[in-house]
Amino acid sequence: GVKENDEPERLPSSANKGRRKSVAPQEINKGNKRLSCLVKPPDMQTKKGKFGEASRPNQKFYEMIQDFRETLEITPVSASDLIEPHRICVCVRKRPLNKQEVIKKEIDVVTVPGKGALLVHEPKHKVDLTKYLDNQVFHFDYSFDETATNDLVYKFTARPLVQSIFEGGMATCFAYGQTGSGKTHTMGGDFTGRHQNSAKGIYALAAQDVFTYLNHRKYAHLELCAYVSFFEIYNGKVYDLLNKKAKLRVLEDDRQQVQVVGLEEVYVSTAEDVIKMIEMGSACRTSGQTSANANSSRSHAILQIVLRRNDRTAMLHGKFSLVDLAGNERGTDVSSNDRSTLVETAEINRSLLALKECIRSLGMNSDHIPFRMSTLTKVLRDSFIGEKSRTCMIAMVSPGMSSCEYTMNTLRYADRVKELNGHSKGSR
Ligand code: ADP
Ligand code: MG
Repeated sequence: GVKENDEPERLPSSANKGRRKSVAPQEINKGNKRLSCLVKPPDMQTKKGKFGEASRPNQKFYEMIQDFRETLEITPVSASDLIEPHRICVCVRKRPLNKQEVIKKEIDVVTVPGKGALLVHEPKHKVDLTKYLDNQVFHFDYSFDETATNDLVYKFTARPLVQSIFEGGMATCFAYGQTGSGKTHTMGGDFTGRHQNSAKGIYALAAQDVFTYLNHRKYAHLELCAYVSFFEIYNGKVYDLLNKKAKLRVLEDDRQQVQVVGLEEVYVSTAEDVIKMIEMGSACRTSGQTSANANSSRSHAILQIVLRRNDRTAMLHGKFSLVDLAGNERGTDVSSNDRSTLVETAEINRSLLALKECIRSLGMNSDHIPFRMSTLTKVLRDSFIGEKSRTCMIAMVSPGMSSCEYTMNTLRYADRVKELNGHSKGSR
């Protein structure tokens, strides 16, 4: 009895060895893969946790994941890492467990070993109810763990795109993921309680760098001016966040140029000006909502920093679009049989599907861009054409076991966006 209590959560060493084998580094490096690891120590199923405290609901899985982690070599992204230029960059960011999740003793099923890799330890049961982990590996350009700051994420994602808009290109950065996974935190700034620090999000960090370039000798002769617009797409309709949510029309002229008619474009001369617009627009976005996630999770928010030539033509020179996408959770939830919710869900799914197809077209340098499939891709049409266009997608994932299915959906989507990335490299 006493002996057993010393190491209650340890598994028999033979089982340990077996699992270690299944996460061999060479396997993790081979691309997406299911690493099933099966452990069957029947005498362990009823054991309590360390120090004899009451087990959490999924104590067994928790221990299996902890043991698995011990076999991994972890190399988190560091600020001094080399930044490689990508035409299409796809990254993933895992947020930490939040307070409620910690209180509920929710288990963290996501591990970020670094070097672009991310693992999901999906808890499963065999027919005989034996618990096992279905460990799945995904590879992206960068993977950020729960300790990564917005600054660090920015450095590897949106920052490398800023210069391209001075070279006359279009830059686009998307935050993709389930509601509550950290899209707004990443783009709009981190939260202190309910207050959002707008200066600490990718919107503001990008704006700062835009002004650094704008004041640079290299680009002075272009005489560029910066403008900001901020709008929301909800159910396929465009609403101006800098003009009291005025509903706007999207028109395409005979040269296929897409225009959002009447969209407010505010002249900005400092990063502080931009931050003011972010705060104004964000307040407008969430106003009149009953619950925190009601509307904003069902709409796409797009902040654009536009560079124009400072002459009478005010010709477009470059544009940076920063997009906080609608939550990608599917309408698999049967409880939502409300018609308007179903319509919303269908619209979101359609726009996210269109987005994926458009980014893939960009990656393949295809002449056919299916941008007409949704309002989102229509208004972002410029982002998907031209040699100077650059795109970055940050896929956000929640760490909890209860989000596992959504997390897998997010990762599969991001994986598809990246899939043809390699092909495009060879074609130029
Ligand atoms: P989304 O916009 O995807 O629905 P939010 O950005 O609103 O999600 O994030 C949900 C909650 O989780 C917020 O309270 C936010 O502050 C918190 N959160 C998200 N990402 C992180 C992170 N990386 N670190 C700490 N807290 C985070
Ligand atoms: Mg949000």
